[in-house]
Amino acid sequence: MFKERLEKSFEELKSIFNKVGEIVLYGNSVIAPVIKVAVEELGIELPVRLYDRLKPIDDVPENDLKKLFILCSAKKTVRDDMACDIFKNFPDPETSDFYAIYFVWLTKTCKRPCDPEKLAEACLLAMEEKTVPNIDSINTVYCNLRCRDCSNSVPQRKNKFHVNVKKHIDSLTRITDIMPITEVNFQGGEFFVAPNYMDFLREHVKNSRIVFFSVSTNGTILPPDSFFLFLKENGIMIRISDYGPLSVAREKIIAKAKLYSVPCILYPRASLWHRLGPIKKHGRSEIELKKICGECFFGTRDLMLIEDKIFCCMRGLAMEAEGIDTPALQSNVLMLDKNISYDELQKIVKGSQLWKLCDYCDHPMEVVEPAVQINGE
Ligand code: SF4
Ligand code: SF4
Repeated sequence: MFKERLEKSFEELKSIFNKVGEIVLYGNSVIAPVIKVAVEELGIELPVRLYDRLKPIDDVPENDLKKLFILCSAKKTVRDDMACDIFKNFPDPETSDFYAIYFVWLTKTCKRPCDPEKLAEACLLAMEEKTVPNIDSINTVYCNLRCRDCSNSVPQRKNKFHVNVKKHIDSLTRITDIMPITEVNFQGGEFFVAPNYMDFLREHVKNSRIVFFSVSTNGTILPPDSFFLFLKENGIMIRISDYGPLSVAREKIIAKAKLYSVPCILYPRASLWHRLGPIKKHGRSEIELKKICGECFFGTRDLMLIEDKIFCCMRGLAMEAEGIDTPALQSNVLMLDKNISYDELQKIVKGSQLWKLCDYCDHPMEVVEPAVQINGE
């Protein structure tokens, strides 16, 4: 039933393809490169352009062609806002969300070994924001770099380990049994440093309640072709954090991704680092902390899943790495070694207690040079 709904939406879109001169991927998000590959591989013979909101960010000159705008944001409120922009600024536009194209591409072109009906249901719930929006799924706390301002405190961590895949997947299943997830982003430490990263990927893609997958890397290691083929077959994208001369494999990863037609981006936020500061209690008032929490970019945007724990914010993971235990941390971590309730999960997803953890971060945060290495310690 869910699958039919998305397939029907795609059939309706096909009639729009016949009426327009070009497709505009609207919103410079991680979704746009995925949809670009999907449009090409579904044989939709229309030029594809990229706009960051109202501004074209490709080299194509302005034109009068009738446009289909695909709203590339996972957030419904943002898509609604984008549609308002478009109807105010373009004559007679067509608009669509990206889910129907994405679903049809994933199920007809890719070979992700999941249940299409469950995946369709997850897509439709994601469309309505009735999902966990984003989880960083961490496979290792080892890294081949030692960045001074690593937000996860990887260089400072004493208890180093690669995660146990079975334990980690059991935790993930406990979450998706309650709610689907819109995006799971794989990361470390450095993802490719763990010898069993392919097992980690293979187990994740069996879960039909996850809509998107992406792999983050620091661009230092070129994985083998079998990795790119796996990404191709499972509709997974790569995000490279560009650390300049440190990211020695960056160009080779981009070239391989292109060869295998794997969506790939240089992750823009990786070039602008905010220093969270040393972990110490600042003693701010509740009102002040709630304001900081509401304004901070990080927070619940990056729930961190590692083996049998999920942290509400990366700051919680950093505290754990440095062996700092506080009541603020305890109210922002959920143990997943046993069944959890909807309310317990919601507390972490919504970050209702996160403001308590914000007392352990600098405010305002200093913007610092990315990936400055700690040497000689
Ligand atoms: S590359 Fe740097 S920031 Fe990323 S996990 Fe490693 S040490 Fe941390
Ligand atoms: S704990 Fe609060 S201030 Fe610190 S990174 Fe998380 S949301 Fe931001």
